Amino acid sequence: MSDLRQRFFIENSPVRGEVVHLEDALQTILSQRTYAPAIQVLLGEMLSATALLASTLKIKGRISLQIQASGTLKWAMAECNHLGELRALADYEEDPHFNQAEDSSTVLSSLLSPVLFINIEPEFGERYQGIVPLDKPTLAKCLMQYYDLSAQIPTRIVLASSNQRSGGLLIQLLPRNNEEEQQLVDEDIWPRLTLLTETLKTEELTQLDAQEILYRLYNEEEVRLPEAEKLQFGCTCSRERCATALEQIGVESVRETLEVQNPINMDCQFCSTQYSFSAEEALALFGEHLS
Ligand SMILES: [Zn+2]
Repeated sequence: MSDLRQRFFIENSPVRGEVVHLEDALQTILSQRTYAPAIQVLLGEMLSATALLASTLKIKGRISLQIQASGTLKWAMAECNHLGELRALADYEEDPHFNQAEDSSTVLSSLLSPVLFINIEPEFGERYQGIVPLDKPTLAKCLMQYYDLSAQIPTRIVLASSNQRSGGLLIQLLPRNNEEEQQLVDEDIWPRLTLLTETLKTEELTQLDAQEILYRLYNEEEVRLPEAEKLQFGCTCSRERCATALEQIGVESVRETLEVQNPINMDCQFCSTQYSFSAEEALALFGEHLS
């Protein structure tokens, strides 16, 4: 069992779902910084959630969840792209609330005016940003409410994380046309699957593999499993992106920076890769030469 996303279909029904399990990727991400226990759990849940949500996208690009708040937690974000590459980061000040954690509710209830953004950034085409009210006790409940109301796709999500492993499960009732509606024989399927899904426990989600979880929950149903997809830690930083960032701050600021730091060193916050630009290289971005 490792870092995987398993899609599943309940045969002869408009219900599909995903199960994710993160282990190596989670541990890699959590080892990049020192995080308090509750922040580790929050990041684990956010990573599982982005991996689940990424599966619902039909585009090449990335999806991220970003919490912004004005208390001791400033922000936290997790991102997953169409290749199953994940990264995450959080910025916070010490807070006794963050020293103990069972799920994201400890952190969420301590935040001041928090907002959750869902960002979708296709490689080509327009970006999308959705705003999710963080007014429910857990991240999963906030996301479910968002999908039920905004996307109008009935969705159930369960998330769990420790500092070693995280997991998540999502089921959705897909939209149907009139004809499909009439062919739907089993009208109780959604309420039944919803109830079953809610019985899933934190330990099951973090410790069992996808097939075992699906068997425990839905063994009365006919579940079809396509091949699972691999998930891994991956960073989308690059020298080109750093160069673009330098171009955006402008030649004057770059000159000022060079007076105190030459070469200019830029560290990626996610993966610690360092990108270095000599004065010559930095000025060449603006078509200028060293004078
Ligand atoms: Zn990076």
